[in-house]
Amino acid sequence: MHSHDAPPAPDNALRALEEKLGIALPPALRGCYATANGGRFGDPQRRDAEWQLHPVRDSSDRKQLKRTAEDILHFTQIALRNTHFPRHGLSIAHDYTMSRQLLVLRDEATGVIGDEIFLFEAHTARWSAPYASDLRAAMAQQRIPETVQPDPSRALPVFRYHADPFASGVMRAASDTCECCGQATGYIYDGSFYAVGDASQFCPWCIADGSAAAKFDGEFNDADSVGMGEVALPPAVVDEVSRRTPSFFSYQQEQWWAHCNDAGCFLGEIEHVDRALLASESARAFKQDMQAQEQLPTEAEWQWLLATPSRERHAAVYVFRCLHCGTLGGYSDCT
Ligand SMILES: [Zn+2]
Ligand SMILES: [Zn+2]
Repeated sequence: MHSHDAPPAPDNALRALEEKLGIALPPALRGCYATANGGRFGDPQRRDAEWQLHPVRDSSDRKQLKRTAEDILHFTQIALRNTHFPRHGLSIAHDYTMSRQLLVLRDEATGVIGDEIFLFEAHTARWSAPYASDLRAAMAQQRIPETVQPDPSRALPVFRYHADPFASGVMRAASDTCECCGQATGYIYDGSFYAVGDASQFCPWCIADGSAAAKFDGEFNDADSVGMGEVALPPAVVDEVSRRTPSFFSYQQEQWWAHCNDAGCFLGEIEHVDRALLASESARAFKQDMQAQEQLPTEAEWQWLLATPSRERHAAVYVFRCLHCGTLGGYSDCT
């Protein structure tokens, strides 16, 4: 019933929210999240309007954490800045502008959250009695976006400094509209983008040609982190990495490894990097550094690192390759 790209909220995420609220979610709302954690649905009263359901914070992996960081509690906090928003309301959806929100209400005496949905309109500072009699019915109105097939004649751009943004998970096949060119190309980026506004979903072409960075005056990778604060690279290199290269998912802010006076090409997290390459002479110094740093001195411990997904250990290891001499390098990041 929701946008196809919002996965269900895991039970532990729902329980964590309920713990914070000190009360269970109403069954209908819980049911919605168990189907899809976020996503869009149509307005049962206005054909042209669309709602965005606020997700429940899901920390099961970095991708979900990033996608759900602005959760139901975050939006409720923002909503409460408007003194007319009901003090005992919980904002559950907005219409992209925050001027119209859907909310549920807690009983002031018991704290119990009701199943009815109310509409809050900032411009009238009013909130209306049951907007839709049943949440499920309202959300069943959700329009499922048509699947967009990529144009086969249009070659995907090649990113000199990011080997495969699809493999690293920041780019995916999707019907979403690029916030820069306004087109649904069949692909969307949803990695980091540092800018004042909140646009961050772009097609690969608007990243590659610099138009997204220019239009929103943002960076995909922090310019100061290119070279990891150790080497000063030519400005053109820093510019290409920060403004025309997809980022990657990381716990701390991304760093970009450099070698031979150039930025390295990001290959991915170590468990996804070719084993033969990691066993080669080009990787020897990097392997030694990482073994020392991660305190994994034996070969068996090193193999464990390569075989274990980062979410199951205390650190993620990001691997880059020098575009000139082939040397591997990178860094680790505490999870
Ligand atoms: Zn675009
Ligand atoms: Zn090199």
